[in-house]
Amino acid sequence: MNDDDWPYETTFYGEPDADMVDPYAPDVDWSPAPPPAAADVSQALHDVFGFSGFRGVQDKVVDRVLHGRSTLAIMPTGAGKSLTYQLPAVLLPGTCVVVSPLIALMHDQLRSARANGIRAATLTSADTDRGQTMDAFRAGELDLLYIAPERASQSHFRDLLNTARVGLFAIDEAHCVSEWGHDFRPDYRLLRPLLDAFPQVPRLALTATADHHTRADILAQLGIPDEGLIVAGFDRPNIRYAIRPRENALRQLKAVVEENPGPGIVYAPTRARVEQLAESLASATGRRVLPYHAGLPADVRARNQAAFVESEDMVMVATVAFGMGIDKPDLRFVAHAGIPKSIEGYYQETGRAGRDGDPSVAVMLWGADDFMRARQRLAEIEPHRQQSERQRLDSLAGLVETAQCRRAVLLRHFGEDPPAQCGNCDNCLEPVGVVDVTDLARKLLSAVYRTGQSYGLGHLEKVLGGLADDRVLQRGHDQLSVFGILTEDEKPLLKALARALQARGSLTATEHGGLALGGDARAILKGEAAVAMVVPPRQERKRRTRGGDAGANPIDDPLFEALRALRRDLAKEAGVPPYVIFHDSTLREMAQARPASLAELGRIGGVGARKLDAYGDAFLEAIRAV
Ligand code: ADP
Ligand code: ZN
Repeated sequence: MNDDDWPYETTFYGEPDADMVDPYAPDVDWSPAPPPAAADVSQALHDVFGFSGFRGVQDKVVDRVLHGRSTLAIMPTGAGKSLTYQLPAVLLPGTCVVVSPLIALMHDQLRSARANGIRAATLTSADTDRGQTMDAFRAGELDLLYIAPERASQSHFRDLLNTARVGLFAIDEAHCVSEWGHDFRPDYRLLRPLLDAFPQVPRLALTATADHHTRADILAQLGIPDEGLIVAGFDRPNIRYAIRPRENALRQLKAVVEENPGPGIVYAPTRARVEQLAESLASATGRRVLPYHAGLPADVRARNQAAFVESEDMVMVATVAFGMGIDKPDLRFVAHAGIPKSIEGYYQETGRAGRDGDPSVAVMLWGADDFMRARQRLAEIEPHRQQSERQRLDSLAGLVETAQCRRAVLLRHFGEDPPAQCGNCDNCLEPVGVVDVTDLARKLLSAVYRTGQSYGLGHLEKVLGGLADDRVLQRGHDQLSVFGILTEDEKPLLKALARALQARGSLTATEHGGLALGGDARAILKGEAAVAMVVPPRQERKRRTRGGDAGANPIDDPLFEALRALRRDLAKEAGVPPYVIFHDSTLREMAQARPASLAELGRIGGVGARKLDAYGDAFLEAIRAV
């Protein structure tokens, strides 16, 4: 992480918690329980979560866990990782101990688990009821116990575990154990002795992102056998990808916000840009927009985050520090005001949209200057990392510049073999043309070279276009062989070409904002490399950036609106975000099916026994009234 710190639980290496030690605890040996019958598993899936079946690889993961086999599950955001330990937690005897890196994440999970009637607790420095939690744990009254890695790795916690029955260790955000991962947390490395102290307890490691290095590392570090690896596909079909040049960031972002009435995140590269965009977007759109970055006081950050999590329509403008700690399933858009660090970063950040499975959009606005700055920064990092960082940037430029399906490029990057067209990205929906611009590229690069590699695009355009203003005359650039060599057809392509050459590194920036040759420029000049370019859209047509045409919430449906209003009231009363009560998809199904009895309501997706009991009558009444 560069400029932003993370709201991790503070590490405490000092005084141990006296309340965690129980010197009189007997050592108890629990022998493994036989796995539950398949019918009981689907019954619990329905009764507790209100789900009619598993999604994707969930059943494979749950099956392994219930058979006591350690597993590493790599599942994209929104694939439903939490179910894979929460369901076993309910079914297995003993408590499932969940290691999670952030207090905010734990509390989100806690809230959702409790809303489904699961007996869950957290044991963190932020909890004042630790004594009670430990009593409940020892008494076998907890299905789930969430704990941070720094606490979990202490010997006192091991002593505590010796006094109760543990059914499963779940290690969330398991990539934190690996130095290859982007969020390495040394405390995760200290978990191994704890896990090894309970060899009969299966381990379930979970993460959304892990390349091959990181995967191998997680398996080794957490002592999970290679055959325990389960990888779900990376595809997020409900996310619509769109990537376009940044012409006017505010106007373009305003359009995204206006086309997507639900909550969303705008990622901006710097703190200053975050604050500035938050302010101008708020006044341009009239929506509630708040900033989030590590430079804000902790209480402001916490307040803004809490407001966002509860909101059904707010926009958060943030640096990338914002995201890992939020678990908001109903984000309708994620917009990047500048380029992300890499394709991995892009995938992770955009992946925060649409965890609930509803249509969502990911829009990236990129500028040539983003790439130039990123390439300049390459020179500042340690030499042995430059090569791989350059490759990351080249891959990102490839994604940005492609005329092919974005999803296909993305999934191929992660080693998958996707169909050529997805039908749900900008390039599939509005195919763009590709032209060979090798000749034009040679003209531009040659002009850069002949003018001494120190002028900006404005001046080069004049020289190439044959416009002899004072500066051109003064420098004698009207005498160059490249003066006035552009054809009329080529003129409108020059800006986009310069942008493309900068993205791929053939043009680089000088200290004073001029352009210089870089990367494969010489090969292009010598005729050894070709340049193709996506044709820029004619006069930015009104390109839609809404989440999708089907499946989104109905507009002006009085029953759906009434159900949302009821959900808001209930959420307020319970002090939880609305999605904890029910997801939009559940409300849509209710509005459609109009259940008239509790039994009918219980068949709607997302309505488990506990929620039926708590909210059933209120929703039935609302349905009857409209
Ligand atoms: P992840 O942690 O993998 O991003 P979550 O565990 O938060 O995903 O689950 C994402 C969403 O999918 C949740 O809102 C959850 O209610 C929903 N979900 C999970 N499993 C199922 C299922 N089998 N059927 C329907 N919805 C599911
Ligand atoms: Zn596509």
